[in-house]
Amino acid sequence: MSKKMFKSESKKLLNLMIHSIYTNKDIFLRELISNASDAIDKLVFTSLTDKSFKVNKKSLAINISFDKDKNTITISDNGIGMNEKELDDNLGTIAKSGSEAFKESLDKGSKNIDIIGQFGVGFYSAFMVADKIEVRTKKIDSDKAYLWKSSGEDGYSVEECDKDTNGTEITLFIKKDTEEVKYSEYLDENKLKELIKKYSDYIRYPIIINNETINTMIPLWKKNKKDVTEEEYTNFYMDRFNDYEKPLKVITSSVEGDATYKALMFIPKKAPFDYYSKDYEKGLALYSSGVLIMDKCSELLPDYFSFVKGIVDSEDVPLNLSRETLQKSYSVRVIAKSIESKIKKELEDMLKNDKETYKEFFKVFGSNLKYGVYDNFGANKDKLKDLLMFYSSTNKDLITLDEYVKKMPEDQENIYYASGESIEKIDSMPQIDILKDKKYDCLYLTDYVDEFALTAISEYSGKKFINALSNNFDLSSKEEKDTLEKENNDSKEMLDEMKNIIGDVSEVKFTNKLKDHAVCLESSGDISIEMEKVFKAMGNMPINANKVLEINKDHKIVDKLKETYKSNKEEFNKLTKILYTEAAIVAGVNITNPTEISDLIIDVIAK
Ligand code: ADP
Repeated sequence: MSKKMFKSESKKLLNLMIHSIYTNKDIFLRELISNASDAIDKLVFTSLTDKSFKVNKKSLAINISFDKDKNTITISDNGIGMNEKELDDNLGTIAKSGSEAFKESLDKGSKNIDIIGQFGVGFYSAFMVADKIEVRTKKIDSDKAYLWKSSGEDGYSVEECDKDTNGTEITLFIKKDTEEVKYSEYLDENKLKELIKKYSDYIRYPIIINNETINTMIPLWKKNKKDVTEEEYTNFYMDRFNDYEKPLKVITSSVEGDATYKALMFIPKKAPFDYYSKDYEKGLALYSSGVLIMDKCSELLPDYFSFVKGIVDSEDVPLNLSRETLQKSYSVRVIAKSIESKIKKELEDMLKNDKETYKEFFKVFGSNLKYGVYDNFGANKDKLKDLLMFYSSTNKDLITLDEYVKKMPEDQENIYYASGESIEKIDSMPQIDILKDKKYDCLYLTDYVDEFALTAISEYSGKKFINALSNNFDLSSKEEKDTLEKENNDSKEMLDEMKNIIGDVSEVKFTNKLKDHAVCLESSGDISIEMEKVFKAMGNMPINANKVLEINKDHKIVDKLKETYKSNKEEFNKLTKILYTEAAIVAGVNITNPTEISDLIIDVIAK
């Protein structure tokens, strides 16, 4: 028998557990019971697919006992058990699902309270109440049993031991009472019963203390909504989905007909740490008449609702369903459709009846809905467009497209938007002044996916979306347009010369859409300046916006331009470059020659 050390991040976690200031030490029991129940689930599932394992369903149980004299609590199950390697792999490192995130947050120096709840530290939480743990386990297909022992930070050992039956038996040597914590309270039947009732009532196997089954064993999703307390839903959610916060919304669904199923779903308050990365796996746990078939059945959720967590239980789903046959399964498809409309309806209701909560939801998961609008060539845009919210310049808050259109003044023809890095930056763009004057609302877009989503929708309630920072934006009258065109034609030579000097723009022209500012940079065509930035950030995508430099026709700089164009070409050249640079800075476009430009500005000032 040799002593082994825990992997380094496990050691840190253990350290946190042993010296934990986390007050809710009670959760250790729930974690161990949940592991025991998983182990029995695995055994049942294995016996379904491999007929050589015979399982007596009636005998499946989790037993809990305690010994006041020895200061021990023992949790034993007759589940699948672990072999030597699994014992080493599983209990020598922290819960695999959480380990990456855990490492990251340790590096960032998070407080231990968050970590404990957030990543479902599982088995190790027992070290909050025990200073020594022994695990005796025998795998179902093995004739050898093993004993894992650890007193915490100094490592663990694994040796062969005697155990006749399959399953796992975990003995906790409870810590001595201290002034702050009375650990001995756990060595009490009533206390243990209370914890089981509170956290583990729905566990599907009997949890037995002194020959008495403590839990009702009815899964929460099979109970009537009115018989379940909010606390029960919350506890279930936090335990099952490793969240340390209550869910934002609980969705229950019981459907009979084309598809018969019961679902219990949750919308989390915060996005999981990996939500917006490719590591995130969407899906609902799928049960067939109470037997877990798949932990994350991705077919049950469309990508745009990937934030939903939950469980679906249906007698229509065959037990032998596999990843391969899943896609062809008619019942899964019907259930998925029904679930999708249920989630959509719940979100619509929330938007209508509880706007504040919806906004909270949208701030966290809105990007995903917007992505859903744009994804798949806009195939789902009609389904999702009414769930979107954008920042409104006049409301100074999030609004829906419907709300925007309903409050449009009669003379307003289009829906206006402008995108940029922040609300403040967009609000200070020269082109926005004219909208403010007219008291037209403008949607300020700060999420990279916003403009792509609006482009996919293309129009709402018969109103076109117009980018206020593009050439398409023009509020002037026919007369004003004609006058402007004439002025542009009259100065065509000069403006073309400016275009050649700058090189980076497709056009230079006068405009009447600026109030006090001299110049602005705009896009013409389908790709906006902000979209160009998104493409650049994604790397190797040489997609550029057509840029147009617009000069305020009434600004005094125009006289100066005309004069130098005639009399001093060198000066004209400098002015042109400076004007372009100023417009580019305001538009947030990268300047490639800052030194040259700053020298030019000094030259002009020093004159
Ligand atoms: P998690 O349950 O989140 O994976 P834990 O640290 O609680 O993390 O457990 C680690 C692993 O140890 C489990 O995934 C499981 O494979 C194994 N394990 C824990 N308890 C048992 C048990 N009672 N029976 C069989 N395997 C277990």
